[in-house]
Amino acid sequence: FRIPEPRNEPVLSYAPGTPERTALKKRLDELSARELEIPLVIGGREVRTGRMAEVRVPHRHAQRLARCHQAGPAEVQAAIEAAAQARRTWAAMDPHDRAAIFLKAADLLAGPWRQTLNAATMLGQSKTPYQAEIDAACEIVDFWRWNPHFMERIHADQPVSPPGQWNRAEYRPLEGFVFAVTPFNFTSIAANLPTAPALMGNTVVWKPASSAVYSAWYVLKLLEAAGLPPGVVNFVPGPGRQVGDPALASPELAGLHFTGSTAVFQGMWRAIGEGLSRYRGYPRIVGETGGKDFVFVHPSAEVDATAVALVRGAFEYQGQKCSAASRAYVPESLWPQVRDRILAMIAEIRVGEVEDFSTFMGAVIDRAAFDSVRKYIGIARDSSQAKILAGGRSDDTKGFFIEPTLIETVNPRFKLMEEEIFGPVLTVYVYADIRLDEAAELCASTSPYGLTGAVFARDRDAIADLTRRFVDAAGNFYVNDKPTGAVVGQQPFGGARASGTNDKAGSMGNLLRWVSMRAIKETF
Ligand code: GLU
Repeated sequence: FRIPEPRNEPVLSYAPGTPERTALKKRLDELSARELEIPLVIGGREVRTGRMAEVRVPHRHAQRLARCHQAGPAEVQAAIEAAAQARRTWAAMDPHDRAAIFLKAADLLAGPWRQTLNAATMLGQSKTPYQAEIDAACEIVDFWRWNPHFMERIHADQPVSPPGQWNRAEYRPLEGFVFAVTPFNFTSIAANLPTAPALMGNTVVWKPASSAVYSAWYVLKLLEAAGLPPGVVNFVPGPGRQVGDPALASPELAGLHFTGSTAVFQGMWRAIGEGLSRYRGYPRIVGETGGKDFVFVHPSAEVDATAVALVRGAFEYQGQKCSAASRAYVPESLWPQVRDRILAMIAEIRVGEVEDFSTFMGAVIDRAAFDSVRKYIGIARDSSQAKILAGGRSDDTKGFFIEPTLIETVNPRFKLMEEEIFGPVLTVYVYADIRLDEAAELCASTSPYGLTGAVFARDRDAIADLTRRFVDAAGNFYVNDKPTGAVVGQQPFGGARASGTNDKAGSMGNLLRWVSMRAIKETF
């Protein structure tokens, strides 16, 4: 049989008077009215360790959302055993039966669960309704509809059989468990990293980011509601090393599916490499980490489109996307117009509580993020090479608010042009039009990352030329569009260089990492 043809879930508008706006408000009120106690879930059973962490609303310190039990080495060990136990039946299940669970989860999420995941993502991660909708609703639905389709295409790829033979390819799950480590910034990534390997027949130990454990909990509940059997995805939130070290030290580790910081990913890769002889096989390592994503503006660019892309790319979700536009190269012939358009838009941006539908930016995720972004803004303030053109202020009295900040620098290698900030800060280097080649060269080579990038130009030769020049600089490359907002099935997402292994999320390439092929030859 065939998996239903996937279609991207339409993004709802939440305009005043729409049923989705009413439903979302109601759900926000309901979730806000009660504090959760979040347990671990191991082998389908709730586990309470009594070691607790607090979850607070990033834009409203006063509101505690949940208290969350924390896993340690003993619980990780129990989760690994539960995964091994569940694997016996899960790996043997018909792939279409596994797929049906995720297709059902997608339908539940597109329908009755939609506002639960949106509200949880708004409260727990300070996303606006639109940012929650494209992430926690649409992108998760898309992952769960497209991945089964990719799985089917993988299974359909079979070798030829000359007369007298029958050759078959069997796409077996890996032998052992997959460790999924997920970030705070996308509920969709939190949903995809454990479920992509699970769809292919693996069982999973899942450590969600502590700062996003609230929406992660609802993702788990949704999967349970869709019929995911106990032990397939084991939920072990906790401190990074307390959970990560024992998971990586287990001889049962068969794969790591990671999104998070470059430093943590490299540390985990090293730990796996150093302990290689303890594993049964070579653990598959799939990771997406940081970015220092660029927008390169050609003198032929359309001013309005460029300015809108810079504002949306840099400031939506407070710049906390690996794909966020954070360094721009603008020709001096266009800069006055582009700058004025950006300044006019920044003046209209509302920063505040995301439950107010006119808010464009909520708070950054936590104290560490707040301090780190402020440090970068401070570097610009103290430097003679940079000027803060807008924003720069922050306020943590009620929540972790930082203004959208536009910085101009005369040094294309200024620290803020090179390091990932992960906050609402856009740094611009203005180049002389006659030195375009040099500026493009700088843009392509300045950063160790290679996640996303965009060029703005109307001149077709320039588009072709810049597309060639930036060939290794961005795994997701945009022409005349912002570098954020990849859609499953439309722009498979991931980057190379220090940004990750580029096993595109939402693609056959990613799912192939979670199977080990057995080639069978039968002679008649
Ligand atoms: N897929 C997201 C986008 O295209 C970014 C994911 C991330 O931040 O890791 O904007």
